[in-house]
Amino acid sequence: MADLDRRLADAIERLGHGLRSLAQHSARAHGLSPLQQQAVLALSRRPTVRREVSALAAEFDVTTPTMSDAVTALERKGLVTRSPGADGRRRLLTLTAGGEAVAGELAPWDGPLLAALAGLPVADRAATLHGLLRVIADLQRQGVVSVVRTCTSCRFFRPNARTDPAAPHRCDLLEAPLPLVDLRTDCPEHEPVVATN
Ligand code: SF4
Repeated sequence: MADLDRRLADAIERLGHGLRSLAQHSARAHGLSPLQQQAVLALSRRPTVRREVSALAAEFDVTTPTMSDAVTALERKGLVTRSPGADGRRRLLTLTAGGEAVAGELAPWDGPLLAALAGLPVADRAATLHGLLRVIADLQRQGVVSVVRTCTSCRFFRPNARTDPAAPHRCDLLEAPLPLVDLRTDCPEHEPVVATN
């Protein structure tokens, strides 16, 4: 099985290279860096992302100064504004109308990946989602990835609480089964598991 694990890790790494290349191509076409592109997309469509430089930095595993530079560049390009938050101190980030328009153009950047996935049977896609979310949760426990709001890292997640192979898990918050095809990657209700040691 070690050989299978090696080949899986190689395949995921290969996927990462391909996605990086797609992201660079899309960002360059819009005069942005890949990090600036990620920030614009996060501000436009991620319901759970906090609209602050430090939160975006944690989201994308970069330092706060690096993200601050990216946001300053987006301000200069007229795509993002900073305004005082409710406490008057923190600066909240908002896309301008121009930023929203660019976000719409950037949205299909990973279209080739979505098209490739759509070619797989639904059961394969569900099993892949399930497996990847378990790996991500494990990597979070090891401190490899920081911000994760997936079912598999949530305190409300009850793994293998049911006998239905298509919906073996349960969400205690929703008080409902979680079909594999509905496992969440960015849930607004997510709460991390509290470490017990
Ligand atoms: S609260 Fe959200 S992330 Fe947590 S188990 Fe339920 S659906 Fe999944």
